[in-house]
This record gives sequence, C-alpha cells and structure tokens, in this order.
Amino acid sequence: MSVAQFAVFGHPIAHSLSPQIHQDFARQFGIRLDYRGIDAAPDQFEVAVREFFANGGVGANVTLPHKAAACALADQRSEAATRAGVANVLTRLPDGRLGAHNTDGAGMVRDLTERHNMDLRGHDALLLGAGGAAQGVAWALLDAGVQTLTIVNRSPAAADALADAIGEPARAHTRYWEDLGEIGSYDLIIHATSAGVLHQPLSLPLSLVGARAFCYDLSYGEAAIGFLTWARAAGALHAYDGLGMLVETAADAFELWHGQRPDTAPVYQALRPQYG
Ligand code: NDP
Repeated sequence: MSVAQFAVFGHPIAHSLSPQIHQDFARQFGIRLDYRGIDAAPDQFEVAVREFFANGGVGANVTLPHKAAACALADQRSEAATRAGVANVLTRLPDGRLGAHNTDGAGMVRDLTERHNMDLRGHDALLLGAGGAAQGVAWALLDAGVQTLTIVNRSPAAADALADAIGEPARAHTRYWEDLGEIGSYDLIIHATSAGVLHQPLSLPLSLVGARAFCYDLSYGEAAIGFLTWARAAGALHAYDGLGMLVETAADAFELWHGQRPDTAPVYQALRPQYG
C-alpha cells in the first residue's frame, strides 16, 4: 500500500521542523506517512504545488514567503484563511480541488492560553509587524477577547491595510513605528516581524513594556533571542518564543488531514531543549 504524501513548501525550507513534528504526531497513532520539505522559489511555487497534488499529495503546509500565494491559488478558503488573506495549509478536497486554511491564529492563541496559562481577555495588546503571520494572528487575538490591538509596522501601509480589513477602529488601530517611544506601555506585546530570522537588529524602546507585561515572539531559537532579551531587560513578567505555536499550528493541520487530534505536549517537550 502506498504511503500518503505530505509536504511543507517554503523558500528556504531546510530549517523547517514540520517534517519532524508531523512524523512525531503520526507515530502517536501508528500512521505511516511521507512528509518532505519542498524548496520552491516564488516564481515556481504554484507549479510545484499543482505538481505535488497532481501526483497524489494529500496535504501541504506553506511557510515563508508563500502564504499569500497559497491562499490565492486555492479553490476554497476557510473563514480563517479568507479573513487573513494568507494560508499555511493546503488540502486536496474529495473532488480534487484545493482548500486553503490558516492555523496561525488558533495555534498561537492555544499556545498562549493553554501552554502559558494566559487569559487574553481585556488586554491592551501591541502587535509588531503586519506580514503574513501578523495577518493570521490579529483576528484570533481579538476573538480571544483582547480589548484593543495596536498594530505597528515598519511600512505603515501594511499595518493600515490590516486594521482596515479588521474594520473595528475602536478596537484595532495603527501607530507609526517611529512613534514607538511615545505610545505608552502595553501588557501584551506580540512580536511578529521577521527581523530575527533575517538577522536584522530591532531597536525597541523599553517604555513599551508595562508592569507585569507578557511578551511573545512568534519566532523561536536564535531568531527570538533579541526580542526576548529586550523584553526581559524591560521588566516583562513573562517572555516566550513561538515554538509552542509552531507545534500547535501543526496539530491543527494534522487533525484536518488525519481526523485525529495529536498530543502536542510530548512533541513540544522533546523540541524545547534544542531551542533554549
Ligand atoms: P512576512 O515576510 O510576511 O512579514 C515580515 C514582517 O516583518 C513585515 O511586517 C515586515 O515589515 C517586518 N520586518 C522585517 N524586517 C524588519 C525589520 N528589520 N524591522 C522591522 N520590521 C521588519 O513574514 P511572516 O509574517 O510570515 O513571519 C514573521 C515571523 O513570524 C517570522 O520570524 C516567522 O518565522 C514567524 N512565524 C512563526 C510561526 C510559528 O508557528 N511559530 C508561524 C508564522 C510565522 P515591512 O512590511 O515593513 O517589510
């Protein structure tokens, strides 16, 4: 019997933990699967995806820089993918068409609330970044009860577009990156820029971090060191990276494809020591 085919598409892709995470989940159920990383440059992405599914692929994760393209090429989009405009999961539907979904928001909220025991309700949150990941998590933060969401991005147009798409000006609004030193403090700060993975320095004022603040970086490993060091220096009560989010978002994709909910705790605990 042939083994079901899964993949993660990105550029680059060698660093991706998704193959290992999905194989760890599969072992929990005795499922055999093939899950590989496929490196596709932006101009080859759509062709590579269509070839993968035409050759029997069942499901694919999608990471940088293809999430918007993944959402655009799909025939059907979940509500989470539609409102974010970006997708990190593609699934071959029973009729052969492609469905797009976004698990970033739900995965991050579950990591915050269940793994790190945070109650998101009533917080004034600052979202740094307005790229694909930020678009995925912004709605989920509001759904989870965050009172206000201030979106700040290096390029203001992307932050404005995200706030406009949310369309709740009393709750979600933007400020300029240049004004970060003057916008006061926040009790929840979500770092969703790619500065860390790009090895670019991020200069943030310490005044952003309120007393008892919870700071969260979507990146993990070396890419998260700069933000987490800044958060601790500024007096944050908690500072966490996005390793748990990665495992949670993978679990949502796994459940979508296999109809079974994996236990994320042992997979997260096995990865944790390698990522500080
Ligand atoms: P995108 O390329 O879509 O967006 C990048 C964002 O970072 C943009 O807002 C960009 O601003 C900003 N940015 C880049 N460099 C800088 C800089 N030097 N200073 C300030 N802002 C900068 O990336 P994603 O949104 O997909 O990913 C963002 C991060 O989130 C990555 O580190 C990624 O690894 C992580 N991530 C983690 C996940 C997890 O499961 N843990 C899931 C998804 C993402 P501008 O618009 O001005 O270019």
